[in-house]
Amino acid sequence: MLDSKALASIPLIPANTAPPAPDYPWPKPYTSAMFLSFDVDAESAWTSKDALHAQRLITMSYGGYEARVGTPKLLELLDQLDLKATFFVTGWSVDAHPAMAEAILKAGHEIGHHGYHHLLPDPGDPWIEEELERGFEALKRRLGVKPIGYRAPYGEFTEELRAALVRHGIVYTSSFRDDVRPYRHLLADGRPGTIELPVTASYDDWMHGLSARFSPRSIFPKEHVLSIWKDELDEVRDWGAMVTTVLHPQCSGRPMRLRLLREFLTYAKSCSDLWITTGEAIAANFQSHETAAASRADQASR
Ligand SMILES: [Zn+2]
Repeated sequence: MLDSKALASIPLIPANTAPPAPDYPWPKPYTSAMFLSFDVDAESAWTSKDALHAQRLITMSYGGYEARVGTPKLLELLDQLDLKATFFVTGWSVDAHPAMAEAILKAGHEIGHHGYHHLLPDPGDPWIEEELERGFEALKRRLGVKPIGYRAPYGEFTEELRAALVRHGIVYTSSFRDDVRPYRHLLADGRPGTIELPVTASYDDWMHGLSARFSPRSIFPKEHVLSIWKDELDEVRDWGAMVTTVLHPQCSGRPMRLRLLREFLTYAKSCSDLWITTGEAIAANFQSHETAAASRADQASR
């Protein structure tokens, strides 16, 4: 509810005070990039809305599709196309479907942190730290992985979370929607934060194709989504920028959606200027340019 007290509490500064994204080249011969990433929520996408969903078997079956069909099909497609991607997996999904998580890792893809119960990070939530710790613990215990990338469940963020991720050694995050190139976050106390690999709703498959229970949206035909995805990609290539996909096995692993993804990724692969890769690789490339720029600035100041 907006009252005058609430309005007066809104700071008169941008919510994100990070400096502009630095301009640096992508690795040769590429002039643009695609961060190919998937969010594996499985049933936690549904239980995070209502814990009682755990007893609603058909609602749960939407998420269960990921382990039974969606993820294996996506892994098969990536193998056929010889592509490596990042999978942000919730800790609950790793615990409930260890064989699925192991298959992702065995296929050589990067595993990222995506919370434990897929809880939306909201200001003042008491469970932000516990969600993070349980997520790390599950990835370590089941897969022996210490992730360096984090994507927020429901794509939401808070200042406490931004600082906590740095404390836990997360190198890059991928949730903000305010740029088309990687940039470095700035914490409230002035310290540098994680590297952000920004996302856009255009490549979130829930927007176009999930046959979500009780969703007011209809499913977009393949041609419509392909047109959105190609136009966004081609313009971004002209800009020398990057796109980030936010794809879910319970959506893009469905037969019609997989056909769409196959067609889109085949097109993307035909763009010889486009670097299709993991978040880890894009973050490492950012870091090397950031280090080089800092040493140039240091030389110039002597
Ligand atoms: Zn998610």
